[in-house]
Amino acid sequence: MRTPKRLSPRLLPPHVLSCLFKLKARRPLIVKVCILASSSSGNCTFIATSRARILVDAGLSKRETQARLSAIGESLDSVDAILVSHEHSDHVCGLGAVTRHRDSGIPIYMTSLTARAIDWNDYTPPLESFQAGSSFHIGDIEIDSFTIPHDACDPVGFCFRAGGIKIGVVTDLGYLTDSVKYQLRGTDMLVLESNHDLEMLKVGPYPWPVKQRVMGRRGHLSNEVVGAFLRDELDMRTTTLVLGHLSEHNNHPEIVRLVASQALEGRSLFTRLVIAEPGRQSEVFEY
Ligand SMILES: [Zn+2]
Ligand SMILES: [Zn+2]
Repeated sequence: MRTPKRLSPRLLPPHVLSCLFKLKARRPLIVKVCILASSSSGNCTFIATSRARILVDAGLSKRETQARLSAIGESLDSVDAILVSHEHSDHVCGLGAVTRHRDSGIPIYMTSLTARAIDWNDYTPPLESFQAGSSFHIGDIEIDSFTIPHDACDPVGFCFRAGGIKIGVVTDLGYLTDSVKYQLRGTDMLVLESNHDLEMLKVGPYPWPVKQRVMGRRGHLSNEVVGAFLRDELDMRTTTLVLGHLSEHNNHPEIVRLVASQALEGRSLFTRLVIAEPGRQSEVFEY
């Protein structure tokens, strides 16, 4: 049986073409994502639909968070919730000030063990606690939390689903457990840590116990480990891959790009590779 030929756009009559372009232009925006910061010195990601606006982690000062939101036409005034992955300062150092932006406080979603590990300085935060591994909704965004191996009290990664789009945000983990890989299946966009280059870490300025911690099973993912994951296991559905949480002392964006693009080369995936550079917010990703 002959397979039907795909119709080239050049063969379509002009009135059909113009109708197709109008349809595309009118397609409602489902999800908007911007990585406001991603590195060992601060982490914050913005995810929004038309009905919900979320920050994942609050590792920037309130002023910087506001400035980076306003650069993409958003504001802290309309943020519905802050989700916290774990208590390390590069993820929570702005949390107290950011939540107090509103008199009643912006609701904070975190596990109760993580909440207990944070010094709130006599402030009673507007907490919505969840169990690691549970799922919940904020507006029209469905959120799955899952445990990750990291040296914090109760660290979690997140997947977000809205309008058929799935986004995974996973940083700060010593290795990719089978359950984390399972959670990341079917993601359209994946924000994944590529923390350090092993050689740079070994000869770098950190004291030996810190190097051991970073390389350990509850530390951070190296470029090499991420490369192996991309080569063998990245889901075919992932069209946008953002590698982030780069160490400023033990990595370089160009090394991350090289290792990841070599890993992706052997696979015929339509994956766009983006490196989240320390100190800069990313472009806005829209679906
Ligand atoms: Zn971190
Ligand atoms: Zn951490």
